Amino acid sequence: EAKHRGKNRLCFYDPVMQETVTARLRLEEEIRLGTAAGEFVVLYQPQFGGDGAMLGVEALVRWQHPQRGFISPDQFINVAERAGLMPALGLHVLKSACNQLAKWARDPATAGLSIAVNVSAQQLYSDAFVEQVLDSLTRSGAPADRLTLELTESLLLDDMEEAIERMGQLRTRGIRFSIDDFGTGYSSLSYLQRLPLDQLKIDRSFVQNLPGSANGLAIVKAVIALARALDLKVIAEGVECAPQRDILDANGCHRFQGFLFARPMKVEAVEALLHDARRTARDTAEVTGT
Ligand code: C2E
Ligand code: MG
Ligand code: MG
Ligand code: MG
Repeated sequence: EAKHRGKNRLCFYDPVMQETVTARLRLEEEIRLGTAAGEFVVLYQPQFGGDGAMLGVEALVRWQHPQRGFISPDQFINVAERAGLMPALGLHVLKSACNQLAKWARDPATAGLSIAVNVSAQQLYSDAFVEQVLDSLTRSGAPADRLTLELTESLLLDDMEEAIERMGQLRTRGIRFSIDDFGTGYSSLSYLQRLPLDQLKIDRSFVQNLPGSANGLAIVKAVIALARALDLKVIAEGVECAPQRDILDANGCHRFQGFLFARPMKVEAVEALLHDARRTARDTAEVTGT
């Protein structure tokens, strides 16, 4: 392999590369320490139905670094995954989400909310995964049918048989599955028939092409039609403006997530948003007498 890389074969001795390797090793060590120190916090981004009601949230991890402040997952998830640190970090997110779900389930005002959790390849394929999900639910007392796991296409294609097996075990317990960033992976559609799925999530890159692009519109329409034909729910991520929402809605998209509605936020902010939305709805009903 290395000898085919021609003049790049000495790259390991390149001082610039060496620095990158050192930086990555340092980052890995910091992630390890940060996980132990509780520096990874979970924010929640609300998801809404077509009628504007909040249906639930997606759990999104953030690194609250003591020196560098908030660090976004794009800057550490891949490194953590390659270093084998995602099972631990992912478990922390899963447990946090289940604890939150259990709290919400106990309060009639929030009992209907669900939580979506992103799962990495290393997590899904680790021996302990199924056990860890079921354990997190049991220990917290969270309702299984309010937990959705988000998997990407590429992750599923790593080992389709194993993925189907694990998803099946969890789905019989009530857990839901959504394909994240749908349309950006290796798009062999045949696998859709075989997976025990509940939802497709249209990737942000397609939503962002709306309303201007005819191709963007064609893709979005096709994904929604595909999901509906397969009897799956379809959610759009990255909805940033009203015209995008309107097009998605007009074409039958069931659910919405994006900055137009709400950013990823702390639990208290999610609850305040829910409370305000309901008060507005109640006031409107009183005024109009409905
Ligand atoms: P994702 O799962 O596709 O999550 C959606 C990302 O889009 C989030 O970025 C969210 O903040 C961002 N987003 C939401 N609405 C909008 C919008 O209207 N406009 C724009 N421009 N962006 C929007 P975030 O939080 O930075 O997460 C990035 C990715 O990191 C996630 O993409 C997910 O793949 C990964 N990730 C985050 N948390 C976890 C986790 O706990 N476990 C794993 N395995 N991956 C995670
Ligand atoms: Mg996601
Ligand atoms: Mg996504
Ligand atoms: Mg995405």
